[in-house]
Amino acid sequence: RGTTPEPPDVRPRLTVLSGPSGVGKSTVVAHMRKEHPEVWLSVSATTRRPRPGEKHGVHYFFVTDEEMDKLIANGELLEWAEFAGNRYGTPRAAVLEHLEDGVPVLLEIDLQGARQVRETMPDGRLVFLAPPSWEELVRRLTGRGTEPPEVIERRLDAAKIELAAEPEFDMTLVNTSVEDVARELLALMDVL
Ligand code: 5GP
Repeated sequence: RGTTPEPPDVRPRLTVLSGPSGVGKSTVVAHMRKEHPEVWLSVSATTRRPRPGEKHGVHYFFVTDEEMDKLIANGELLEWAEFAGNRYGTPRAAVLEHLEDGVPVLLEIDLQGARQVRETMPDGRLVFLAPPSWEELVRRLTGRGTEPPEVIERRLDAAKIELAAEPEFDMTLVNTSVEDVARELLALMDVL
């Protein structure tokens, strides 16, 4: 009768998970992927040194400053940012290929990166992961035990700025429970 309904948009959207360092983004993502390995998590390039247990090509592509310069100059990154003295960036090609193939794609990146994705991929859904409280964030960042005090200080400074950016996001999830947040994200990504 009259208009033909639009076919449903089956192309999955890009989902970006951002939020202050120490809020628990990696833990949430690890939980999601354990239950639902069909979610594809982009592996970023970084100039940061690996932490104990981190593997090249799994947690990050650990690159030199010169290699990072080249990735940026060649336009191979969808976004990149300097964070607490190191550079981090999302390789563009793999993200686009997975989206083309209909795979749900997740980026776990900082606020500056999320802002760039908002410009370049306006379809993308920007999710802010918030700590239950400032005190809890300080506790988590300090308790990680993998970083010297001056690095923790830099990350707390960055966290203050990042927390203020929450209104720029499409939605906020409060990290009171890893299981709950992971489930909400999976539902958003149409994986549940
Ligand atoms: P970490 O050193 O703790 O692994 O990461 C520090 C911060 O950099 C985190 O907030 C993390 O989400 C962010 N990050 C990781 N990869 C990327 C990336 O490719 N681009 C941007 N903009 N931030 C990233």
